[in-house]
Amino acid sequence: MTQKYDAIIIGAAIIGCCIAFELAKKGYKTLNVDKLGAAGHGSTSNSCAVIRLHYSTPDGVAMAREGYFYWLNWEKYLETTDETGMITYINHGCLVTKTEKNKYLKNVMASLDELGVEYEELTPEGMQKKFPFLDTRQYGPPRLPDQPGFGEPTGGRLEGALFIPESGYISDPILSSHNVQVAAEAKGGEFLFHAQVTDIRQKDGRVAGIVLKDGAEIDAPIVINVAGPHSFIINRLAGVESGMNIKTRALRQEVAHAPAPEGVDYEGTAPLISDGDIGCYSRPEVGNHILIGSEDPDCDTLEWIEDPDRYNQNFTGQWKTQVMREAQRIVDLRIPNTMQGVVDLYDCADDWIPIYDRSDLAGFYMAVGTSGNQYKNAPVAGAIMAYLIEQVEAGHDHDQDPLQYSLKYIERQLNLGSFSRLREINRDSSFSVIG
Ligand SMILES: Cc1cc2nc3c(=O)[nH]c(=O)nc-3n(C[C@H](O)[C@H](O)[C@H](O)COP(=O)(O)OP(=O)(O)OC[C@H]3O[C@@H](n4cnc5c(N)ncnc54)[C@H](O)[C@@H]3O)c2cc1C
Repeated sequence: MTQKYDAIIIGAAIIGCCIAFELAKKGYKTLNVDKLGAAGHGSTSNSCAVIRLHYSTPDGVAMAREGYFYWLNWEKYLETTDETGMITYINHGCLVTKTEKNKYLKNVMASLDELGVEYEELTPEGMQKKFPFLDTRQYGPPRLPDQPGFGEPTGGRLEGALFIPESGYISDPILSSHNVQVAAEAKGGEFLFHAQVTDIRQKDGRVAGIVLKDGAEIDAPIVINVAGPHSFIINRLAGVESGMNIKTRALRQEVAHAPAPEGVDYEGTAPLISDGDIGCYSRPEVGNHILIGSEDPDCDTLEWIEDPDRYNQNFTGQWKTQVMREAQRIVDLRIPNTMQGVVDLYDCADDWIPIYDRSDLAGFYMAVGTSGNQYKNAPVAGAIMAYLIEQVEAGHDHDQDPLQYSLKYIERQLNLGSFSRLREINRDSSFSVIG
């Protein structure tokens, strides 16, 4: 391994690997450095890997739609085959309930219409006909099990839901990172594991490389922070945090796994469900299980983590809360005695919209603040970061004149200024995992 590269990428999970692949295709000599032992072993490993389209902003919907086509054309995108196996995309469609908070999905439908994406508007009766295991009564706004009225309908039925057929999930997020690592290596990219970055070096007002825990120094005129929930630490090492209007923090999350009700082929027939009425999202999981995450409703206390290397990795009452909330929607869902699932961290931006940007330090870039919702967008993030880096290094002033990126599948321009570290808080955001 040489000790000089065109670009060092801190992090070798799904987004770090996608950036390496895109830069390597452009001829950059890249090195991904990760303190863990293999690609995708960070927060990506516990991602629910849901591929869905309903975001609260038109750019969010457009990016997710573009990402969908990358997953659909995975082998073509990678231009190679990973001999350890290739991921599968499982398409079950996505059911999104209409609530007052999501404005009955009017904005989402407008964005889907603009992109020509098919969807079906379902009445409560239509929801039940399509998915007989659903209870379509209204329970919202979401509350905690110890709050009065929990589990009791709050009046009538839901307003209805959207069913978006082209949505699904990826079988194995670690394998997807490995697939992209192999693709990046095929283009000359290198990877260094078990190597923790402890400092960012600078020379003459520009980034000059990194220092590793063992004291080794590696040179590069470009360094990219893709460190997930550790992103704020890397930004502090580079001294760029004070120049950011939007910042990132680590947020603890629990995802529960519970067996589907007896007699329901959940794994074979159930859709992804995004349900603001009960404050949960869910998807089928192998073993006829249901995987249940929180949509961060107002009643849940957000648990911000100061040290992403030291946080409670055991389940808490939140686990049971999520299963009990889901049991309002899935008829006969039982609360298991054994708690199964995952505990991990989001790298959360102040407005739950990612930062794909340069920094005030020349040559130092970041793809951070992915807020629990950017796994699906990783291939697009890779492409836009490579474009942004190429343009900024060629002298473009992205801060003053935001770059526009042509999304190749959906043939739409994406204003990269909406992912700027300098933006004002985006008030259109859901301020939740929905983005
Ligand atoms: C529980 C959970 C569920 C999710 N579900 C979904 C979903 O359904 N759909 C969706 O689209 N998104 C989802 N997400 C979000 C998505 O998984 C993330 O946005 C995405 O995986 C982030 O990838 P990444 O490459 O940026 O970072 P990570 O996977 O966090 O990787 C960062 C890497 O940086 C390395 N690193 C950190 N510090 C250093 C250092 N100092 N030196 C060297 N290496 C370092 C880490 O070891 C790690 O490997 C979920 C996230 C979580 C936690």
